[in-house]
Amino acid sequence: MREFTYNANSARVVFGAGTISRLPDEVARLGLNRVLVLATPQQAESADELAQLIGSRACGVFSGARMHTPVDVTAQALEMVASCRADGLVAVGGGSTTGLAKAIALRTDLPQIVAPTTYAGSEMTPILGETSNGQKVTRTDPRVLPEVVIYDVSLTLSLPAGPSVTSGFNAIAHAVEALYARDANPIVSQMAETAIAALAQSLPVISREPRNGEARTEALFGAWLCGICLGSVGMALHHKLAHTLGGSYDLDHAGTHTALLPHSLAYNAAHVPRAIETISRALEVSDPSAGLYDLARACGATMALKDLGLPEEAIMQVPELVLEKPYWNPRPLEIEPLRSTVQAAYNGCRPTVG
Ligand code: NAD
Repeated sequence: MREFTYNANSARVVFGAGTISRLPDEVARLGLNRVLVLATPQQAESADELAQLIGSRACGVFSGARMHTPVDVTAQALEMVASCRADGLVAVGGGSTTGLAKAIALRTDLPQIVAPTTYAGSEMTPILGETSNGQKVTRTDPRVLPEVVIYDVSLTLSLPAGPSVTSGFNAIAHAVEALYARDANPIVSQMAETAIAALAQSLPVISREPRNGEARTEALFGAWLCGICLGSVGMALHHKLAHTLGGSYDLDHAGTHTALLPHSLAYNAAHVPRAIETISRALEVSDPSAGLYDLARACGATMALKDLGLPEEAIMQVPELVLEKPYWNPRPLEIEPLRSTVQAAYNGCRPTVG
């Protein structure tokens, strides 16, 4: 075993089915008296229900969260924080809602209770990506790490099959890159392997039967571990590409991760033999790039970035943007191979076996 450093992020986690009923206790436990409940417009009803559940300790609902955390939405939410004198935040939703809670916490240091309803994993990380003027800027700050996370399997049952699958692949991407991170360590790698296996087994079931409680439990457990991976070690080319594509072309975040992951893994594969061995074991395949592609397709995911709305000029532009501010990556980043990677994801072809 080589030398390593392991940093654990401290968050209290409540996991199970029906656990959202413990929200009022968690609000009281943090000593909060005026919490603002956050959601997207699509989940406004869930936010209203949670505000009712919290009762007199809730001061309002802001249901304007949007994907990629635009700073103008954060400014509107901050006005509401001030006008209702909120002393804490409750976020119910996916990464977009969690992102809004984090953006508010960054500016106010208010405590956050997050109830995730997708598999994005943002609730486990001190990372915040914000978009302004079409550019997504990511920062790491301990103030944005939520204090309490309530994982309630029942909140995920309403996520339709399509977004469940892509969100699951968004989670798998965190675990995949954790395995070859520059600061990889054996604890996080074990979590990554368990998480990839859990999601690979549960996503096909969820794609056919979105309300299958057992598969949903397995997927949410895997997603939690993937979130820990993302929050504990550095990410590489795949996340850099996904953020560049998402921020610059306003593509669906989870869908982009799904179509891209087989190709970004193929870019790195020859340079990360131990990670390849681990992912192969977790997926029970011999070539994990092709294996991830096959799994996503079998679950009904859209595999061509052009079908997600990516314009063709991105094939030339994105590698340049990646090289302007590169992330560390196990294989050196070179413009032509990067173009081939984006081109393959744009077309949605199966990565070459071998
Ligand atoms: P999302 O939060 O945008 O959700 C997508 C849509 O699905 C929304 O309309 C939402 O209201 C709806 N939805 C979510 N859960 C549902 C449910 N259970 N039932 C019905 N509808 C539901 O999507 P996402 O993929 O979870 O999050 C994407 C955002 O999260 C991006 O901005 C991304 O950058 C960010 N993110 C950040 C981190 C981090 O560590 N900072 C990690 C992962 C993702």
